[in-house]
Amino acid sequence: MAPIVQAQREFFSTGKTRELDFRLRQLEVLKDAVGGNASRIVRALKEDMGKPAFEAHVAEVSQVITGIDYTLKRLRGWAGPHRVHTPVYLFLASSRIHPEPVGVALIIGPWNYPMDLVIEPLVGAIAAGNCAVLKPSEVAPATSEVVCSMVRETFDPAFVTAVEGGAPETQALLAEKFDHIFYTGGTVVGRIVMQKAAEQLTPVTLELGGKSPCIVEPDIDLAVAARRITWGKYFNAGQTCIAPDYLLVNSEVKGELLQAIERCKTDFYGEDPMQSPDFARIVSDKHFERVTALMGEGDIVFGGQTDAAQRYIAPTLIDNVKPEQKIMQEEIFGPVLPVLTYTYLQEAIDFVRERPRPLSLYAFTRDREKQSRVLRETISGGVCINDTMVHYSNPRLPFGGIGTSGFGRYHGRWSFDTFSNMKAVVDRSFHFDIYLRYPPYRNAQKLTQKLLRFIT
Ligand code: NAD
Repeated sequence: MAPIVQAQREFFSTGKTRELDFRLRQLEVLKDAVGGNASRIVRALKEDMGKPAFEAHVAEVSQVITGIDYTLKRLRGWAGPHRVHTPVYLFLASSRIHPEPVGVALIIGPWNYPMDLVIEPLVGAIAAGNCAVLKPSEVAPATSEVVCSMVRETFDPAFVTAVEGGAPETQALLAEKFDHIFYTGGTVVGRIVMQKAAEQLTPVTLELGGKSPCIVEPDIDLAVAARRITWGKYFNAGQTCIAPDYLLVNSEVKGELLQAIERCKTDFYGEDPMQSPDFARIVSDKHFERVTALMGEGDIVFGGQTDAAQRYIAPTLIDNVKPEQKIMQEEIFGPVLPVLTYTYLQEAIDFVRERPRPLSLYAFTRDREKQSRVLRETISGGVCINDTMVHYSNPRLPFGGIGTSGFGRYHGRWSFDTFSNMKAVVDRSFHFDIYLRYPPYRNAQKLTQKLLRFIT
């Protein structure tokens, strides 16, 4: 991997990637490449995990194109420099922030949105003026192949390149020195990435997963809430980092809500979801076995059918689940929704607070006071009130986790910032050179303190 990184270092040092026109042009080129390869990408996603064409278009192709358009419109403004206030004691000077590229970035992606989750960070890396090496996930091999060939056909490899392969290739890349590592995936590999980065003191962004709770109070529009929960859970067969992992439902509304979710499931996917073109498959045998093994406890309200040959797991809802059961101990990442019941909202809030901080949290209630309580009393990467997952699609919002769900932010302006060094610049005149700061200090300390009190 050393020659790849070396070639990018040399390209970066030419200064080409710093030019704003170059960045804008490359973003246009990327947009055309994604648009031009859309049908190949959609076919590959179908092959890898039976991803429905609509879900592939919305969550991978359009998501990326919208992000590029948003960036193209604003990049000149973001790229600065930006003037900031200068305190009087620095008279005569001006202060500015100069965003500058960090150099060569490594972007490692997971398999569940295997195109979007390497190309969206790439938008930020290019916008900020960097070179980048992409490592798409080998668990979605058809999409990895399409992404790598699209990148090869689109960019000079000394500027942007993509490496196909599995853990050994990722490990080999991690042995190189990068200027930023952007990793999306599970916590186990997240730890490996961070350890490797620590050896070289390379900054990292970790976009990880975990269990995103969905709290439901009785004061809701039941039909709409049920639709939004069903959609969020079974989109991409539950293989979404921000899917509602489990339901925490108020006992007053539980019966009605579960019936409504079952109706939605039938409306969305028909009597036999295995026949539906709109319901995805599990990505690999390993994940099929893992998710199937989580379905053994609690009472199945609907679903539970599986087909190993197709890696099909029916949309499933399990009631009467206990917090200590296996399904509540790990991220589900499949189309299985466990339900826990509470009487008072405080119980649900406490339940969330006692567990690792989630990537996303969903709260369904019309009551403003309850909404504020949930916001105030829980900590998570993001929140949707009265919906699931849609916060991801707003480029004006930072996306990322906290604690075990990751750290660092991206999307829109936040991606640009993530891949930039915000260089602080003070530009001083030779006039007004106040002698107090220079030794010998004698009585300067008292005078300086008085002065500072007066002018700050
Ligand atoms: P994965 O198995 O595809 O692994 C991710 C990357 O790590 C791959 O590129 C792979 O090559 C590399 N890798 C695997 N083993 C490695 C090793 N031993 N050493 C070095 N590199 C290695 O993906 P995954 O981890 O199964 O992804 C699913 C997880 O990702 C879930 O937990 C999900 O919540 C999380 N996720 C988070 C986000 C987010 O935005 N926060 C988005 C999608 C997925």
